[in-house]
Amino acid sequence: MNVAYLKCSLCGAEYVTDEVRYVCPKHGDSGLLDVVYDYDSVSSRVSTAPIFDSHDFSIWRYWELLPIENRIVIPPLRVGWTPLYRASRLGKQLAIKSLYLKDDSVNPTGSFKDRASAVVVAKAKELGVKVIATASTGNAGAALAGLSASAQMPTVIFAPHTAPEAKVAQLLMYGAHVFLVKGTYDEAFELCLASSKEFGWYSRNTGYNPYTAEGKKTASLEICEQLAMAKAELHKRWVAPDRIFVSVGDGNIITGIWKGLRDLLALGWIDKLPKLMGVQAEGSAACYNAWKAGTEIITPVKPHTIADSISVGLPRDGTRAVRAVRETSGAYLTVSDDDVLDAMRKLARKEAVFAEPAGATGYAGLVKAADQGIVDGDEEIVVVVTGNGLKDVQSLVRAAGKALLIEPKLEAVPRI
Ligand SMILES: *Cc1c(COP(=O)(O)O)cnc(C)c1O
Ligand SMILES: [Zn+2]
Repeated sequence: MNVAYLKCSLCGAEYVTDEVRYVCPKHGDSGLLDVVYDYDSVSSRVSTAPIFDSHDFSIWRYWELLPIENRIVIPPLRVGWTPLYRASRLGKQLAIKSLYLKDDSVNPTGSFKDRASAVVVAKAKELGVKVIATASTGNAGAALAGLSASAQMPTVIFAPHTAPEAKVAQLLMYGAHVFLVKGTYDEAFELCLASSKEFGWYSRNTGYNPYTAEGKKTASLEICEQLAMAKAELHKRWVAPDRIFVSVGDGNIITGIWKGLRDLLALGWIDKLPKLMGVQAEGSAACYNAWKAGTEIITPVKPHTIADSISVGLPRDGTRAVRAVRETSGAYLTVSDDDVLDAMRKLARKEAVFAEPAGATGYAGLVKAADQGIVDGDEEIVVVVTGNGLKDVQSLVRAAGKALLIEPKLEAVPRI
């Protein structure tokens, strides 16, 4: 077993893995746990070279850094090892020499969330639970529904009734029990926690389950390995970029990315921590507000943004998400809905990467940071694209505009 213990992010208390299932019991539901590995033991069994030679093109290539004991529980659906594209055309527009897009929109259910759900479903199998539940603005649910279908495990999903239609249909297609809650995501989250306690379901709720961040960290492992590949430095160290831009809702993706980087630094596989740049929608900026105020205490907001996947009033992983940015000397930024729609178009037109609003929010943040002179043109920058453009058809239509309607005659076809 590679996991040494679980550590409370609020009070530092340490627990062996079967002592607590979710959070530190001393702070209600808010004492999220970090999963700590025995890095000497990991180092003694694996190094960068055999991973590079691995033919496992999924998150499970990092087996020794994941919290699962037996490969038999891994759901077959392939998650991760998504492309890291060199985005030279967008880089040119922004005067950034080395710009990369980590395209997580190509995961099997269309979002970054598959990374978390793959690990949590494996953990559920390992624990022998019968049913998994989650609250979701859509993507976490779709990811859980997809990975659960892959493992044939019954699933219950609580989504706000405002979730985009296509996302809800996706949950139903995979055979999940779906409850549309007449309330916000935050209310769906509370109801899911209460129901899981009442009925004994295993909760995948973001952050609350310590293994969601462990799944999400695989993106930073991939980024550093792929950057080393791009530079043919394979058998030496991996390469950490200077900055990573990522959209933030609950704050669990940025926390997971930070965790993966700290794992690599502890192993000596990278030699620095990139600056983490959290990007939030102006109308849903609780982490930004806390960071700006210099506090880790998150004050809830009333969320309103086109980027439904990051429309969160009370970020469940807010404290760690603020810390991730502060401790790496990064920054938080906010962007408007128009910035997000513009970023969706630019990603698709210049680099053929097709993102939903929250998926393009990280890039919208980079545009703003470049505009404000926060980033330097010589820095190596990675932007994480977190969700697929087909996830939210209504926003897609807003970003795309209308096609020309013409008569079926040659004269009607204009020159382009
Ligand atoms: C969930 C999600 C995010 C934000 O992740 P958090 O862990 O909630 O901060 C960003 N983009 C997409 C597409 C998502 O589904
Ligand atoms: Zn604690």
